[in-house]
Amino acid sequence: MQDIGHWINGKLVAGTSGRFSDIYNPATGEVQARVALATPAELDHAIQEAAKAQIGWAATNPQRRARVMMAFGALINQNMDKLAEMVSREHGKTIPDAKGDVQRGLEVIEVCMGAPAMLKGEMMDSAGPGIDLYAMRQPLGVVAGITPFNFPAMIPLWKIGPALSSGNAMILKPSERVPSTSLFLAELLQQAGLPDGVLQVVNGDKEVVDGILDHPVIQGVGFVGSTPIAQYIYGRAASNGKRAQCFGGAKNHMIIMPDADLDKAADALVGAGYGAAGERCMAISVAVPVGEKTADALVERLIPRIEKLKVAPYTAGNDVDFGPLITRQAQERVKGLITSGVEQGAKLVVDGRDLKIQGYENGFFVGATLFDNVTPEMDIYKQEIFGPVLSTVRMPTYDDALKLVMDNEYGNGTAIYTADGDTARDFASRVNVGMVGINFPIPVPLSYFSFGGWKRSAFGDLNQYGPDAFRFYTKTKTVTARWFSGIKEGASLNFKALD
Ligand code: NAD
Repeated sequence: MQDIGHWINGKLVAGTSGRFSDIYNPATGEVQARVALATPAELDHAIQEAAKAQIGWAATNPQRRARVMMAFGALINQNMDKLAEMVSREHGKTIPDAKGDVQRGLEVIEVCMGAPAMLKGEMMDSAGPGIDLYAMRQPLGVVAGITPFNFPAMIPLWKIGPALSSGNAMILKPSERVPSTSLFLAELLQQAGLPDGVLQVVNGDKEVVDGILDHPVIQGVGFVGSTPIAQYIYGRAASNGKRAQCFGGAKNHMIIMPDADLDKAADALVGAGYGAAGERCMAISVAVPVGEKTADALVERLIPRIEKLKVAPYTAGNDVDFGPLITRQAQERVKGLITSGVEQGAKLVVDGRDLKIQGYENGFFVGATLFDNVTPEMDIYKQEIFGPVLSTVRMPTYDDALKLVMDNEYGNGTAIYTADGDTARDFASRVNVGMVGINFPIPVPLSYFSFGGWKRSAFGDLNQYGPDAFRFYTKTKTVTARWFSGIKEGASLNFKALD
């Protein structure tokens, strides 16, 4: 049994708490390793050391810090296969999907190679006689990243890149289900030239998270995970005076208009609904066809596409469409929700509850599931299922469909399939959701834009990556400078305009 520890001051170290969390092979249900859960004392040590290392790192010029990101990006590329395998081994997603996980994180590192341009600040010369004003962007100090299980590479990279290239040190607390990728990324960063102590990976559970939230040295917290935890972390961090951005869960709808290309819409729904077994915060989990004819034609197209999906371990070949869920609890919760959908009157069109894969009977698999005639009162509509379950909610008109999306408590992503530019523009302008796709199912913005939901999908201000991330990880200091040559007056006691 492999024991996984922490990455402290540039070295892998064993945990000392004696407390561990099991890491499963989700395809077999067996425990494949255990990760140490750090104590408050181990956390405190990591933070104090990070604070020392941060001073020199912040004083390193931004171009040199950016060069570390350049070398890091090259190392990620060189280790792409190893990273993808690591992601798949603990998470269970397919290798092509795991490569996408690494790639979308790498793209944020690529933007960080140009970080100096984001950190330049502002300047107004001659704001008054002999007076210049300038605003600097300075790092916060030691910040923390707390990440979920579903993107073991991408989301840690979204945190690490902007935080470190802005001159901060970071305590990264990855999900205890998938710790290995973060530890390996830390090792690659060291090879890329990052000074020891600037990135510390501290594994743990709620005890470590609470320790981070209460620690006086931690200045900012970037969290990604489920909505209840996001809200909790935001509240506790904010009440301790820390800057926090906490991204939560989702229930993403796709509206399908009567004029949409239904084959393309069906393909998009299958990819966005079932990819990664639905364990994506940008998964489409609700299809909203407008009009009965559209709905009938859409469901007719979805069924054969769903029935031919190959669900299997990632090791079963390149044609695997998706793998298992992350834990037995997740599997049981998803199956329970499917049963609740049947009991509450939804029409179960494709049932994935009884999927059995030979040789992997104890794996955490659930087959692709499709519901029709779902209504907003049902639990399968109200809850984030986070599994391979697509619900169809039929709506008579575009306005009804739009209202459904707008009334939902989550606001991460949404999409519309239509051939009409006017409808698409109206949707993009009115919908109260942070990321919108037009004939595009998973609208995860590219890394030079930024990522963030609205409503209960995000707590706090500013988005992840892109220019917003550099604002989040720096604070503004504004200097008003006057040089005395040329000043001929005496003292003035009035609060007055500079001219
Ligand atoms: P989670 O909330 O269970 O865990 C996220 C992190 O919080 C982990 O590091 C975990 O150790 C920690 N944590 C868990 N319970 C805690 C507690 N009681 N107190 C303090 N810390 C705690 O989420 P998950 O299951 O790992 O990830 C899936 C969720 O993340 C889904 O809801 C998904 O939509 C969401 N997600 C959101 C985004 C986004 O950008 N909005 C991206 C990916 C995933």
